[in-house]
Amino acid sequence: MQEQKLTRLTAAGRFDLCCPGECIRPLLAAHHVTYNRRAGGCGRMLKVLLNGTCSYDCAYCAVRLERERLSFAPEELAGAFLRLWREGLVGGLFLSSGIARDVDCVMHDLVETGEILRRRGYDGYLHLKILPGAARVDIHDAACVADRISINLEATSPDRLGSIAGVKDYRQDILKRQAWVAEEKPDRHTTQIVLGAADETDAEVLACLADQYRRVRPSRVYFAAFRALPGTPLASHPDTPAWRARRWYQADYLLRDYGVAADELRAVLDEKGFFPNRDPKEVLATGQSPVNVNTAPRCDLLRTPGIGPKGADRILALRRKRPFTGPADLGRAGVRGTTAGRYLTFGGRETVQTRLCL
Ligand code: SF4
Repeated sequence: MQEQKLTRLTAAGRFDLCCPGECIRPLLAAHHVTYNRRAGGCGRMLKVLLNGTCSYDCAYCAVRLERERLSFAPEELAGAFLRLWREGLVGGLFLSSGIARDVDCVMHDLVETGEILRRRGYDGYLHLKILPGAARVDIHDAACVADRISINLEATSPDRLGSIAGVKDYRQDILKRQAWVAEEKPDRHTTQIVLGAADETDAEVLACLADQYRRVRPSRVYFAAFRALPGTPLASHPDTPAWRARRWYQADYLLRDYGVAADELRAVLDEKGFFPNRDPKEVLATGQSPVNVNTAPRCDLLRTPGIGPKGADRILALRRKRPFTGPADLGRAGVRGTTAGRYLTFGGRETVQTRLCL
């Protein structure tokens, strides 16, 4: 029975994850364990729902359609996870839940599961989902027991959320709770936006992200491209192309780690308020003066396509010893010259800069 539940309530069942946006992904893998290199560095992560049904009405979500009331008790799930962990089959746990009953009851069960695990010696990565409308005390308890907590925005504004998830109050149930999450777990909380389900533009996503980084500073924002699921009210809604999520991850890095302002990214949007299917960093750099790799400050190197934070730091360290002489020389800093070389010059301080076109 436990095996069957694990199969149904994990990536081996119908859903990858639960809660805003995450439970919309149809299940592809036939295994309990989702391999996730980013998941707190823990490698193989068990992503599982405590309850596989939900009383909420998010229009894009298949959990709401589940008739079979399949759920784990905290003790039961903790035991199943510990067995997998001790056998070396999993290195971390991402625990979420459909809201099968009262939100407070489900939050208590999520926290209790984490507490049981810690009491029984589990010291690995634990991510607990905070449910919309969760009580402050439960958010505090979740933050105490988990490495990371998250509450998902799903949409970019109250109106957009109202069009796809009528039960949830964007300001009260999500933004207010997210502010508590940020207080309890600064720098260790994340969120997610479902792209396209509510027909928002990228201009709206950008405004939402700028607000997020100004107010609550999530350590990561995840983007899920909407996929229509049979039997849901959005079954005939067009899917969002996967590249839109990819472009948003690139744009988000620029905002978060590369010092690019939201206003600058706005210039990349087309007249309808959408990103083109092109790396926004490349779009921003196109038409700008080339950057001299031997003299430019870190912030300018960072804005060069093909150079990330590590590459910029290596360039700064290596050029003190020996200037870079051409695109092929960038390999010394672990930077691919074929991309970055198009936006760089290689003169010394006294050399006139000339743009290299490869
Ligand atoms: S809260 Fe919404 S997205 Fe989460 S499981 Fe329930 S219906 Fe699905």
